[in-house]
Amino acid sequence: MIEEFAKKYSIEKYRIDQFNQKYYKEYLSSWDELTTWPKDLREKLKKEIAFSKLIHQESNISKNRKTEKVLFKTEKGNFVESVLMKVKGRNTVCVSCMSGCPVGCIFCATGQMGLNESLDSQQIIDQILYFGRKLRTKNEKISNIVYMGMGEPLLNLESVSYSIETILDKDRLAFGKRRATLSTSGYVQNLKTFLDKNYGVKIAISLHAPNQKLRDMLMPKVSKSNTLKDLFKVLDEYTQNSNKRITYEYVLLKGVNDSVGNAIELANLLKGRLALVNLINYNEVGCLPFKKSDNIKTFQMILLNNGINCTIRKSQGGDIKGACGQLAVDSNKC
Ligand code: SF4
Repeated sequence: MIEEFAKKYSIEKYRIDQFNQKYYKEYLSSWDELTTWPKDLREKLKKEIAFSKLIHQESNISKNRKTEKVLFKTEKGNFVESVLMKVKGRNTVCVSCMSGCPVGCIFCATGQMGLNESLDSQQIIDQILYFGRKLRTKNEKISNIVYMGMGEPLLNLESVSYSIETILDKDRLAFGKRRATLSTSGYVQNLKTFLDKNYGVKIAISLHAPNQKLRDMLMPKVSKSNTLKDLFKVLDEYTQNSNKRITYEYVLLKGVNDSVGNAIELANLLKGRLALVNLINYNEVGCLPFKKSDNIKTFQMILLNNGINCTIRKSQGGDIKGACGQLAVDSNKC
């Protein structure tokens, strides 16, 4: 964003450093606060670059005040949702990389929207800065960033990659790489390209099924052309080279993928792999027929007894439709 402006006006490096300090590190809340720049340059910036490419529409806060879901509108008029979650003293921002999602997993409300628009890197960063600014007013900071909102990050690889570079850059947001997580449904070629960039951020795979047949049913668009065999080939190579653990997200759908047999099959699939399973009980949405599982504790116990690390994700923000798989603004279908 600032790069083209800097080129156009031959702005010197020290001015960019001043910009980065105020914009990223101090989370300024308008161009007027860029007081380290001379007024004439600031005025040009105000005229030529919108302070945020996403326009805030509304915020919803959950009853327990631990989750805030924010609705933004893009320049093209599409809607995007982002969520701030407060968990154990941490402030985690869940960003979207698309408005809607083209992957269409059959249990996911966002997937029913289809794709409206892929966001550019600035629009992704705008979501992070929005919450950073809000938290700053309470003397708090963002602790973690997760790419788990609307959209499939690996189908918007260039923008997502550039936004991650911005997050990690010590001159800009300066986040530690282990405080950022990219979650993907597993587009194998793009995953390989992403891993080859060696950002070192945490990787989470939306697995949701312990075998190919069930995954083909739940996530047909991604699963059929990106088989579990091919996916694990890439992941195994990555864990062998990096010694980094992969998180596998598994949403439990009553009577679909939550049986004792499914748990045993999942344990066998992950046995010997550097893995953490994150079980998520399904967040029901009115437009879809799936139900919450009542088998989550048993499912976890089977995995643990088989030596697989396994946690249960505490669902937050269900009352404001801000929980996993519920982001579905502007959807007539959901
Ligand atoms: S689960 Fe993720 S990849 Fe699948 S449709 Fe929903 S947002 Fe897209």
